[in-house]
Amino acid sequence: MDGLKTHPVTSQGLPTYGTAILINIINEAGALPTKNFREGRFDGAEKISGETINAHCQERGGKYEHSCMTGCVVHCSNVYNDAAGHYLTSGLEYETVWALGANCLLDDIDAIAKMDRLCDDLGLDTIEMGDTFAVAMEGGLLPWGTGPA
Ligand code: SF4
Repeated sequence: MDGLKTHPVTSQGLPTYGTAILINIINEAGALPTKNFREGRFDGAEKISGETINAHCQERGGKYEHSCMTGCVVHCSNVYNDAAGHYLTSGLEYETVWALGANCLLDDIDAIAKMDRLCDDLGLDTIEMGDTFAVAMEGGLLPWGTGPA
């Protein structure tokens, strides 16, 4: 516990930006799943990054440094609200953001959050859904990068 509370990643990075702190880092490394895994960099990464999620949480009355279960000492979760301050989802994670975002060329973090909420309500895995959408987009069944579609 002392190690987690003193290491900069688990005591500062993850609590502030959540697991989506990895979006910008992995994008810069060229390994962010993008366009149905065909590319490793996404031009819209900043818009769906942990930094943007944190900024929206602060502006909209959401939460960061949030614990998703009792006893956790890392607090990497969040509560994400829409622009009007109404609850959209919790928590918005790295895997969800790349799967429903970069891998579908979608740079709208609010649309990703809405889909995360729908997947939670329906009991669907967000990685599987994002990858399913990406295959459908590559096959011409859906347009790339649109939240409403
Ligand atoms: S228990 Fe929840 S808040 Fe804590 S580190 Fe794991 S995912 Fe993050």
